[in-house]
Parts: sequence; structure tokens; C-alpha cells
Amino acid sequence: MVRIAMMESPCDNPKGNTLPIGSESVIAPRIVLRGRGVLAQARERLLALARRWLLVGGQTSSSLVLPRLQALGIAPVQVVTLRECTEALRQELATVIARQRIAGVIACGGGKAIDAGKLAAHDAQLPVVTIPTTGATCAAWTALSNIYSPAGAFQYDVPLRTCPELLLLDYDLVQTAPPRTLAAGIGDALAKWYEAAVSSRQSTDPLVVMAVQQARVLRDILLQKAVPALATPGGETWQQVVDATVLLAGLVGGVGGARCRAVAAHGVHNGLTHWPQTHRWLHGEKVALGILVQLRLEEMQGYPLAGVARAQLLHLYHQIHLPCTLAEVGLGDEDAPALAAQICQPGNDIHRLPFAVTPAQVLEALQTTTQPWAKTQVPAG
Ligand SMILES: [Zn+2]
Repeated sequence: MVRIAMMESPCDNPKGNTLPIGSESVIAPRIVLRGRGVLAQARERLLALARRWLLVGGQTSSSLVLPRLQALGIAPVQVVTLRECTEALRQELATVIARQRIAGVIACGGGKAIDAGKLAAHDAQLPVVTIPTTGATCAAWTALSNIYSPAGAFQYDVPLRTCPELLLLDYDLVQTAPPRTLAAGIGDALAKWYEAAVSSRQSTDPLVVMAVQQARVLRDILLQKAVPALATPGGETWQQVVDATVLLAGLVGGVGGARCRAVAAHGVHNGLTHWPQTHRWLHGEKVALGILVQLRLEEMQGYPLAGVARAQLLHLYHQIHLPCTLAEVGLGDEDAPALAAQICQPGNDIHRLPFAVTPAQVLEALQTTTQPWAKTQVPAG
């Protein structure tokens, strides 16, 4: 297990799921297997961890993973998650684990199902194996689960004791997902740089400095390879971009830890989740829009490079079909003032920006994400 004991600030969240000061911060899964058909080769590793498994996943991902597990002689108890990772689901999974005497959890699918499986294993102190079936998030890597309300609104995140015991990144499974999911993963992974550079710009901690530089490398890989990867699903470049969104993005979060945090891009995402009409858009698609809003806020403060970065991203987003405006995530102009107010609620990640923001400024940023950067007016003072 890769662990580094760190003295760090507790992770604050409204439910008090805090890592105590001096706790271990986990950087990476104990074992990562990647390649075509790796699930079919994982029998011994799975049986070494547990004999009685719970499989947590969505309908599509479970129908992909279950027969492959059965072919290995593993017959898990199955919970199909058709909804958000909520406190109610957390309790439900705890009950199943206790009743069925489960010894390990296999979490498959996208971010929400994997978060639910990781959290269930965390609560029951069991090993967890993650099997992503999309490239949409780095949830298969991280020691973090996000909790949503039954209506789909982001509530808070829960730091977990460890990263997964085993991560199986099987390209054959990921390739079955719609291309849109990988584009969303690219949006979420790009945010690592734009957020870490802001939250940790001043840090002198070597691990954080390294994480920020890794995030920059991750951004560069995605800027160069996102378009060719999506044009050739399953190809070598596509596999590299899947590695970047699922593994490298997770590594940045692991190395950077709690001090290399989400800022405005995820703050905008979290605000958007309060509008049910945005639920048709994936996490990474909303985060991608959030990056543009964050960059607009930086531009409005007079950070000239933010405008250059936004123009670069707009060019990419148009090519890989990531949303650039509120209208492209299903919201109208009439929704924008309430959204700006929601984003500015106390505790939102947007308040980690190195400058204070008002709802009026956020509203302006929300409404001007596609404004040509060269014409940006920098307010006096
Ligand atoms: Zn994210």
C-alpha cells in the first residue's frame, strides 16, 4: 500500500466526516491492472482478497461485469444502483453487507456507482475493487466518495481511509461506453490543473508542488490527444487518454491530497446539480463549463493568462462537444441569478479562489463564458 503519513488540515464538510489531523493520506490503489481483458485475468487476485463479494454497479455496467466474474467462478451478491450515491443507499448497502456476510466489495460503472461501492466498503472496513466501465471520472482511483441528495443535488464528500485494493482498468469494458463519457472525463481531468494551480499556487510542500506539475502535464496530454483519441476509439491514443482521465487524474488528487483542492470549476458543478434539468449532463460536462466560469472570474480580476486559457479551451470544447454556455446544460437566462446565488452559498468550493467573489460577479461570469477574451474589460481596482 502506498501511504504517506501527513499532518494536514482536516477536510471540512457539513456532516463532520473529517480525517483527523495526522491521519494517513492514501495516494494510490495498492494494485492497478490495465489493458484489454484484464478482468478475465484477475481471478487469483480477487480470490486472494475475499471469497464472498458484493457487486455494486449500475444496470449496464453490472450486465457487463457480472458474467465476466461468473466466468471466473465468482458469484457475487448483486446490488444494482439506479440512482444517486445517497445516505439512504449507504445505509442499504451496509444492511446487505451485514446480512449477507460480505467480505469484499466490487464497484463497477461510472462515478456514482463506484463512489457508492467504495463508501460501503469503507463503512464496513472491507477491501474494495473498482472496475470503471467509462473514462468519465477518476473515481476508481481516489479515496473519496461524493454524497448527493435523492434529487441529485451535491451534498458533501466523504474522505475514505484508503484507495481501492485493486483497480482493474479493462479497455474492453471502457470501450463499450458512449464516446460522450470520455469527453466528460477529459473535462473533469482538465479541471485538475485549473483548480490546483489556483488552490496550491503558493504551496512549498514538495508533494503539492509535484501534484500541480502533474496536473499541468495532464492538461497538456489532454489538449494534444483529446481530439485524436475520440476520433479513434480503442486505439493507442484513446487508451492513453483513458489512462489520463482514470489514472493520472486520480494520481494528481492522491499526491496533492486535501491541500490540492477543488475550486470554482467544481463549485459551479455543485451549484448546477441543484437544477434537475442539468442531470442529463455528466459530472465532467458540468465541471468543464465550470472551468470556463472560473477563468472568466480570474479574467475579471485582471489575470491576463486566464483569457488565453479560456480561448484555448473553447476551441477544444467545440471539437469534443463539451458545453460552453448555461444553455448547453439546459438552463435559461432566467435561471442564472439563482444559480449564481447558489454557487456563492457558504461552503461552496468557489470560496477557495484567492479573491472574494460576489453573486453579481459570478452571474456575469456565468453569462460571458464565450466572450472573446481579447475584448475583456478589466475593471479598475
Ligand atoms: Zn470532478
